[in-house]
Amino acid sequence: MDRAATIINVDDNEHVRYVRARILSRAGFIVHDAATGSEGLKLIAEQKPDLVLLDVNLPDLSGLDVCRRIKSSPNGVAVIVIQISAVAVAAPHATAGLDSGADAYLIEPIDPDVLVATVRAMLRLRQAESDLSAANERLQALNAELQRSNEDLAQFAFAASHDLHEPLRTVASFAALLGKTAQAKLTDTELQYLAFISEGSRRMQALIDGLLTYSQVGQKPKSTQLVDLNAVLPWALENLRERISESGAEISSEPLPSVTGDETQFVHVFQNLIGNAIKYSRPGVKPTIRLNATQKSDHWMIAVRDNGIGIPSEYTQSIFGVFKRLHGNEIPGTGIGLAVCRRVVEAHGGEIWVESTPGEGSSFFFTLPMNSGEREMDRLTA
Ligand code: ADP
Repeated sequence: MDRAATIINVDDNEHVRYVRARILSRAGFIVHDAATGSEGLKLIAEQKPDLVLLDVNLPDLSGLDVCRRIKSSPNGVAVIVIQISAVAVAAPHATAGLDSGADAYLIEPIDPDVLVATVRAMLRLRQAESDLSAANERLQALNAELQRSNEDLAQFAFAASHDLHEPLRTVASFAALLGKTAQAKLTDTELQYLAFISEGSRRMQALIDGLLTYSQVGQKPKSTQLVDLNAVLPWALENLRERISESGAEISSEPLPSVTGDETQFVHVFQNLIGNAIKYSRPGVKPTIRLNATQKSDHWMIAVRDNGIGIPSEYTQSIFGVFKRLHGNEIPGTGIGLAVCRRVVEAHGGEIWVESTPGEGSSFFFTLPMNSGEREMDRLTA
């Protein structure tokens, strides 16, 4: 603290008050004296001190009452109160002092150096507290701003992808119409161009759909009920039915937990991870996908393991970014699936990562907080 701190020194004993004031003034503090509780309260209201030294035994009010009144006044919470007892008191008295809101308790006779050091230490502590709360306020403001800009961005992405659908549909349907009506007149090369237009619009459509999903799952989970992941899995498998039967994939799962969150967002996660495990399988090797859940201290870790082509270690981080793909157009995809998984998992308070051996397979792991009932049960049975 740059300016000298102001201290109100409340004690009915004139000599004690004088000595204490001298010690503190010499140490560089601004000191105001008060001989009674009410005089002290009046000075505190006027001077708005940083610290009050408060004798417990005052002629008018008890030190405990004065302390309570200081602490319950609008600006009083920030004022440090050190209670001082003239004689050694039993522990309950000291406890009552601290319970009344005092920040510290000293007992006479107090060594001058100890008094100054205690006052300095308490002021340092208060300064650190106020720095922390100022930093906290700044952080909260930044957070609110970030949330606002995230919402704006999500709204923008939603509106943009929504509005792109219409012109894209026009391009795709007129390309198809042209293909049909002018087929006889067009050369093979021109027909090929039309096919490129149709393929391009189909890919664009997939990208827009992916972005739309990505912008929607970025928000806080829409519903936060207890979701049984054993019921989410069949839903995801149903959405992948064709791909599963075409590839002959074998999918097995150990019992999965129930977690708090948004059911449809969890479907996205399972669907993307299992869909990728099928898509990135090794040629000639039947995809085998195993799911299981392990209980860690206060969260579940869910694993989706495959025996596919694997991911080189230098890409295990970047593949979770939007549009990040390791494979060219030979394997269809938009590069949004894993980014969606990460958004969903993080919005639910978890993390996602991958461990992989190229040529052998990959294991995707994600964590989700345990629901509070389970945590309580664990605590009781520990
Ligand atoms: P997409 O599959 O649409 O390309 P994703 O975001 O789902 O997009 O995945 C990003 C990239 O990560 C993929 O293009 C692929 O290269 C790699 N990848 C994802 N899952 C696997 C997996 N199970 N095995 C091997 N590579 C994978």
